[in-house]
Amino acid sequence: MAQSTEGLKNRVEKLSTPLDPEAEQTEVGNYFVANYPPFSFWTPEHVRAIDDVLEQPAPTDTNLGVYFHIPFCRKRCHFCYFRVYTDKNAGEINEYLDAGIREFERYAKKPYLAGRKPQFVYFGGGTPSYLSVSQLQDLTNRMKDLFPWDETEEVAFEAEPGTLTEKKLEALRDIGVTRLSLGIENFDDHILELNGRAHRSREAYRALGFAKTLGFDQVNIDLIAGMMDETVENWQKCVDIAIEQEPDCVTIYQMEIPYNTTIFKEMKEAGKITAPVADWPTKREWVDWAFNRFEEAGYTVSSAYTVVKNPETTKFVYRDSLWEGADLLSAGVASFGHFGGVHYQNQADVGPYTSELEKGGLPIFRAYPTDPDERFIREFVLQLKLGKTSLSYFEKKYGVKPAERFSAQLKQLNEQGYMSVDGDTITVSREGLLQVDRLLHGFFLDHHRDARYT
Ligand code: SF4
Repeated sequence: MAQSTEGLKNRVEKLSTPLDPEAEQTEVGNYFVANYPPFSFWTPEHVRAIDDVLEQPAPTDTNLGVYFHIPFCRKRCHFCYFRVYTDKNAGEINEYLDAGIREFERYAKKPYLAGRKPQFVYFGGGTPSYLSVSQLQDLTNRMKDLFPWDETEEVAFEAEPGTLTEKKLEALRDIGVTRLSLGIENFDDHILELNGRAHRSREAYRALGFAKTLGFDQVNIDLIAGMMDETVENWQKCVDIAIEQEPDCVTIYQMEIPYNTTIFKEMKEAGKITAPVADWPTKREWVDWAFNRFEEAGYTVSSAYTVVKNPETTKFVYRDSLWEGADLLSAGVASFGHFGGVHYQNQADVGPYTSELEKGGLPIFRAYPTDPDERFIREFVLQLKLGKTSLSYFEKKYGVKPAERFSAQLKQLNEQGYMSVDGDTITVSREGLLQVDRLLHGFFLDHHRDARYT
């Protein structure tokens, strides 16, 4: 049942009152749990562990994904914490793409990866759609020569609406992109401008129109709840517009303000600790309202962040495979990957990244070899983000009984109404899903708790 507009308005007004002692303000820091153990534990000393895995024979029971990171954008969003470049010309971009191919070539010769065909491919950024049609065709042809896509179930591609033309979308479809993800974030031009987005709503509508007629298997829209100047009325309007556009999938993030964002720098200069965005209870209310509205329109909530029109046909192979322990060959500046349980991250700047490749090595900056218990916890916490997971899956794969191992945590979360265990299934309640990233820290090993996510 959808919450009434008036009720939500009252709630937001109440929570916006500075005297409200219960309001959890949005302070600086990362909220989203993307991996485990936390990135702050990955170190340069462990890079050799990746070399050791790569010399081992290829596994026969582990799926492989391929990720390529495109760190270019038209403009830097004020909430962006990624390393992005807004000033590179076509020649410099070509040099970067050549470096990426050199990296893939190096991996393709390693015994652990030679001959393996990716189950899924992902282009992330940055803005992959910043590349021209010829750059995209050349890049993907060379990638396919090294890691063929003939058995690939999904090719996902992130796009900024203002960089898309019908011709480019056609090229993406012909290259083999199956999941087009549009970073729309909001449909209001004032909010887009205030938050530093490069595109405006007319470009979002145009891109959605082209994408629909070109017949991609799956079109996803990204929205962010709680951007600067967001209001209840506008948020609800955005959700209703998204429903009218009939995407296959909608991903909703709750706005966080990590350290290296423009917003944080401005907060620091002004001596503020609270970010100028909605507080956490308000953002949770907004996402809850959106989930209810999407459900009324026939969508299904398929994770803490996504709703899908048809859960039978709309899969997200990248997410589901990674959360079940697939290997990820990740190339490009600052990208994250893992082989055989060893996490790694590449050099975060183009300079050191390309020079490592020119020297004949891999551009890995830091790594972390996990033990089986950390792999179990990683999969367990990531799968909880789906809202449901099977206990026997972990017993079979890791010989661990989560209900016993985490009996204290699960009892407490059950009493708080966030999670319940029934037979073989752990179910995360709606209230739990809305703040799942905060709850997941309770399952971390003691020495990994409260680590800053950088
Ligand atoms: S489009 Fe994405 S990667 Fe680029 S600046 Fe904005 S948030 Fe960052």
